[in-house]
Amino acid sequence: MTEEKLSFQAEVSKLLHIVTHSLYSNKEIFLRELISNASDACDKLRYESQTDSSLSEGDSNFRITLKVDKDAKTLTIADNGIGMNHDDLINNLGTIAKSGTEAFIKAAEESGKTDVNLIGQFGVGFYSSFMVAEKVVVTTRKAGEDKAWAWESNGEGEYTITDAERDSHGTTIVMHLREDQGEYLEDMRLRNIVTTYSDHIDIPIVLLGEEEETLNSASAIWTRAAKDISEEQYKEFYHHVAHAFDEPWLTLHNKVEGVIEYTNLLFIPGSRPLDLFTPERKNHLKLYVNRVFITDDCDEVIPQYLRFVRGVVDSGDLPLNVSREMLQHNPVLAKIKAGLTKKILSELKKKAEKDTEGYSTFWDTFGAVMKEGIYEDFAHRKECLSLARFKSTHGDEWVSLAEYVERMKDGQDQIYYISGEDLDSLKRSPQLEGFKAKGVEVLFMTDPIDEFWIPAVSQFEEKSFQSITKGGADLSKIKKDGDDAEDDKKEDAADKDAIDRLCAAFKVVLGDEVQEVRSTDRLTDSAVCIVASESAMDRNLQRMLKQHGQDVPNEAPILELNPTHSLIKKLVDLSVDGTSQTLDDAAHLLLDQARIIEGETVPDMTAFAKRLTSAMEKGLV
Ligand code: ADP
Ligand code: MG
Repeated sequence: MTEEKLSFQAEVSKLLHIVTHSLYSNKEIFLRELISNASDACDKLRYESQTDSSLSEGDSNFRITLKVDKDAKTLTIADNGIGMNHDDLINNLGTIAKSGTEAFIKAAEESGKTDVNLIGQFGVGFYSSFMVAEKVVVTTRKAGEDKAWAWESNGEGEYTITDAERDSHGTTIVMHLREDQGEYLEDMRLRNIVTTYSDHIDIPIVLLGEEEETLNSASAIWTRAAKDISEEQYKEFYHHVAHAFDEPWLTLHNKVEGVIEYTNLLFIPGSRPLDLFTPERKNHLKLYVNRVFITDDCDEVIPQYLRFVRGVVDSGDLPLNVSREMLQHNPVLAKIKAGLTKKILSELKKKAEKDTEGYSTFWDTFGAVMKEGIYEDFAHRKECLSLARFKSTHGDEWVSLAEYVERMKDGQDQIYYISGEDLDSLKRSPQLEGFKAKGVEVLFMTDPIDEFWIPAVSQFEEKSFQSITKGGADLSKIKKDGDDAEDDKKEDAADKDAIDRLCAAFKVVLGDEVQEVRSTDRLTDSAVCIVASESAMDRNLQRMLKQHGQDVPNEAPILELNPTHSLIKKLVDLSVDGTSQTLDDAAHLLLDQARIIEGETVPDMTAFAKRLTSAMEKGLV
C-alpha cells in the first residue's frame, strides 16, 4: 500500500485553522454540508448515467446513509453517487475553487476569530466537518473506475491519500468525533438536524441501525404544492441549491401548464453572489428533466441580466437524454426561458408597486445587473425601463423614470442626467448648478452600463435623454417654480456682446485645446465648466473607454463661462483692452480647473503651477 502525504493549499490551511478554532455554536451545520455534497454527487451520477448506463453499475437506487458507532465514537455518512478519483480528491478536498472562500478568509481574519457567525453566512462546505471531528477519513471510488482511494486528515496542514477498497462507486466519510461532540452519536439529534436542514433533499437520507429509518421526506421540494411547504423549508432549499447562506429576497414557485409544461422554484438572493460581475456572466439555475438533474451550466435557460436568480427549473418536455450541447437552440428551452423572464419581470413589477422599500433593497443589490437588460433584451426593454431606478438631485430615494417625467417642469422636454463613476463627486458637479437653481431634477448615472443603454434607448415616454455635460443647456425656457416670467434673464449677468468678446479672446488663447468657448446659464456658483459637444461622446464615456485601454478620438471640450460670476465679469472688463498676459493665464487656469473638477488630468502641470503661482502673487499685492 502506498501512502502519499500532501499539504493543503495555503488558503485551505487558513480556512481549516479558522474553522477548527472557532467557537461557532451552530456546529451541526456540518451535517447539512456533507449531505448536500452527497446529494450533488448522486445528481451528477444520475445525469452521467443517462448517456452511459454502465456508470451506475446497477446501483442506481440513490441514497445517503448515516451510521453511528458509539464505541468508536464515529459518525459515518455514505452515498452511492459519482465518487472521486485520486485527482478529484486533490482538487476538491485539498484546494478551494470557490470564489467565496477567499472573501470568507479575509473577512474572518479581519474581524478576528471571535466573529464566528461568518461560518454560517459563508458556508465552508466539506471543511466544516473539522468543527466536530478530530480526524476525517474519506473512502471513495469514482463511477466507471476500478480503483478506490482513502483520504485522511486531522485538518492541520496535511492530508494523506492511500489505496483503498470500496465495493461500489460513491463516497464514505467517517468522522472521528471530538471528545465533546458526542451529541452527534444520538439518533434523536441526527433526526432533528436532518429534518431541520435537509428535508428537501430529494433522495432518501437513511439512518442505519437495527431498523433502517428514512429521515427526510425525500420528495423534490418543487414538485410539492406550495401550500405544503413552509418558509423555513423554502429557505433551507435555497441554501442548498444556491450554495448561499442569506435569506432569499423573493421566492417564486410555479407550475406552468400549457403547450410546454414546467415547474420553477426560483429565488432572488438577498445579497450579491460573488461572481456577479465576472466576465463569464454565468447563471446557476439548475435544470431538471422530470426530477433528473441535467445541468447548472446552461446559458439558454435565463437571460444573462437575470443571472443572479437561483433555483430549479424542471420540465418533462425536454428529452431525458438531452446533452448539454443539445440545449443550445432548443425551441422548448427557448420557450421556458421566455416564460421565466416574463414571470420574473412581472413579479418584480408587483414588488415595485406594492413594496417600495423592499424593492429599493433589491435595486441596491441587483440594479446594476438589471440595467443590462435595458440594453440587451429588446423584447422586454419597456418592462426593464419601468423597473429601473435612479438616484437623482431630488433626494436620496430611488426614482423611477415615470416619477421623473411626472415631476418635469413646465417647458422641460428632456430627461436630464449626468454620468460618472461615483455619486458623491457627481453631486458636486458644477454643471448641476443651473438645474438645481431652477429646481430641475437631474438623474445620476453611475453604472458603466448606463453609457450603453442610454444611447440605445434614447427616449422614455417620448422624452429624450440628455446628458447635462454634453451639448448646450437651454434652461431659459424652463420655468422656475412660482415664477411666471417667460424669460428670467439674470440681471446681473455680463452684457452679451462683452461676454462674446471674452469668449472669442479665450478661444484665441486656448486654440485647439477647446472646440468652442461660450457663455452658459447652467452655472450659478462656479465660474466655468467643460462639456462635450452635442455630437461627441459623453466625456464620462471617453474617460471610461480610455481606462480600458480603448482608442478614443481626443475630442476637445467646450469651455463654458458663467456670465454672472464676478471673476468672469472682471475678465470681461479686462478684455476690453484686448489680450493681455493676465487674460491669457486666466483662460488656461480656468480650463485646467474645469478639467480637474471632471477628474481629468491637466496636460501641462508645470505650466499650470507657474500660472497659479503668478495669479496668487498678484492676488497678494
Ligand atoms: P461545494 O459543495 O460548494 O463545491 P464543498 O467544500 O462542500 O464545496 O465540496 C468540495 C467538492 O468536493 C465538491 O464540489 C465535490 O466536487 C467534492 N465532493 C465533496 N463531497 C463529495 C461526495 N460525497 N461525493 C463526490 N464528490 C464530493
Ligand atoms: Mg458542498
